[in-house]
Amino acid sequence: MTPEQIQDELERMKEWASKDHNTRRHMYLESNGAYCFFCGSPGIGAGQMEMDGAAWCEVTCGHCKKTFRDVYHLVDVETDFDEQSADPSL
Ligand SMILES: [Zn+2]
Repeated sequence: MTPEQIQDELERMKEWASKDHNTRRHMYLESNGAYCFFCGSPGIGAGQMEMDGAAWCEVTCGHCKKTFRDVYHLVDVETDFDEQSADPSL
């Protein structure tokens, strides 16, 4: 990253962290879980998927060290996909 890109990224994170819980929740879902819910850092790592009726995955941020959960819902079923491929839409 160039110094300008780093500066932009820091600005984006500052902006992210300044939002209230609901706004951040919306931004988080819009980004498809690309950034830390708390600080907006892209340096996050997801743990194993857990299932107990609902499904969730614990995500830890490498930047602020906070942990949050991605919660998954079953949205569809597909039967016509190539099992050799990781992408069922192909
Ligand atoms: Zn964070």
